[in-house]
Amino acid sequence: MHFHSFMIKYAEIGIKGKNRYLFEDALVRQIRRALKLVEGDFRVVKEDGRIYVAADSDYDYDETVDALRHVFGIAGICPMVQIDDLGFDDLRSQVIRYMDDMYPDKHITFKVQSRRARKNYPLDSNGINAQIGEAVLEAFPQIRVDVHHPDVLLCIEIRQRINIYSEVIPGPGGMPVGTNGKAMLLLSGGIDSPVAGYMIAKRGVVIDAVYFHAPPYTSDRAKQKVVDLARLVSRYAGPINLHVVNFTDIQMAIYEHCPHDELTIIMRRYMMRIAQQLAEANGAAALITGESIGQVASQTMKSLAATNEVCTMPVFRPLIGFDKQEIVEIAKKIGTYETSILPYEDCCTIFVAKHPVTKPNLNAIKRSEYKLNGIIEELYQKAVETEETIWIETEEQSL
Ligand code: ATP
Ligand code: MG
Repeated sequence: MHFHSFMIKYAEIGIKGKNRYLFEDALVRQIRRALKLVEGDFRVVKEDGRIYVAADSDYDYDETVDALRHVFGIAGICPMVQIDDLGFDDLRSQVIRYMDDMYPDKHITFKVQSRRARKNYPLDSNGINAQIGEAVLEAFPQIRVDVHHPDVLLCIEIRQRINIYSEVIPGPGGMPVGTNGKAMLLLSGGIDSPVAGYMIAKRGVVIDAVYFHAPPYTSDRAKQKVVDLARLVSRYAGPINLHVVNFTDIQMAIYEHCPHDELTIIMRRYMMRIAQQLAEANGAAALITGESIGQVASQTMKSLAATNEVCTMPVFRPLIGFDKQEIVEIAKKIGTYETSILPYEDCCTIFVAKHPVTKPNLNAIKRSEYKLNGIIEELYQKAVETEETIWIETEEQSL
């Protein structure tokens, strides 16, 4: 069966009034962005309170559906046949042809669900259901009706034109990127932070990212891995500005001057400070991390509190209550897992203490940081000033 167009279903709850237009316009923009990855000419139109994607040329069906499955805000993708209203007899024969093409094996149950959005149509929805149902049964003796659990829900929508569809391919849900501001993701090469970025982007938030590397202790390969992860997240989140910050001197200074069991916490406090400064400079209003309670010493309640203390912006931690296994499942689903588990060194693991504190005392941490006075300011400024910004978009987009 060859389709020329798709109806895009989206959750309408909570997007009434003016917000609805913003939501729909953002969704149209994001659909267009995603379809740039696919060869072919597409039209994306808002019509009759629906969003349609129509192919004006040859196109690859699987690639198109795959691209649409990466667009937040889409609840369902319905490949459909759209016909002109040439009277009920024509509709009946078109529906029969549709069923024949779509379901070569006729051992199925079905139910007709019609919707008459155009009230001047001569039959009401009950009439359409009954007459089309009867016509299908007559045309295909093996097919049965099941009004409760049909294999096929045959949908017919009478609008200016008539839409016929029976398949709803699930979309990713969420809200279109661009409807809820911008946040700065602390992106490491691990499993968690790409998932955290995905989850916040899913709420319509544009993502910038920051990666702290420590050359020569961390390699170019480790950095490339983060670039690759950002690219995978950008398939959903749209283009990402990745800020790469050289953290070596700061890390060395902390290593030299502070107690080793506090290294990780102090280091993380500096990461948050820098991330926040970059967020402010780039119009992001919140930070995102992949932290989850108790996962490692730096993520106990007390450690999280000590890290959080330097932040004045909200810090979103979407994985806070997730088990590792649950995070891994999402990473696999969104395609970041295989890259995340590549064994390149992380800047945190190189300087990590044998026995890091799990219940840091905030006053003690502040006293330790005090020892960096007069040294850290210049290193901090240099780290911010020398950040390298990499514009990340999926490869196909940059063609
Ligand atoms: P992940 O799998 O995301 O790396 P993790 O389990 O390794 O997380 P930590 O190393 O404690 O945990 O890091 C917690 C969070 O801090 C990460 O999820 C990420 O948001 C941020 N983070 C850690 N290291 C870096 C880094 N080098 N650059 C940027 N952000 C980092
Ligand atoms: Mg990590």
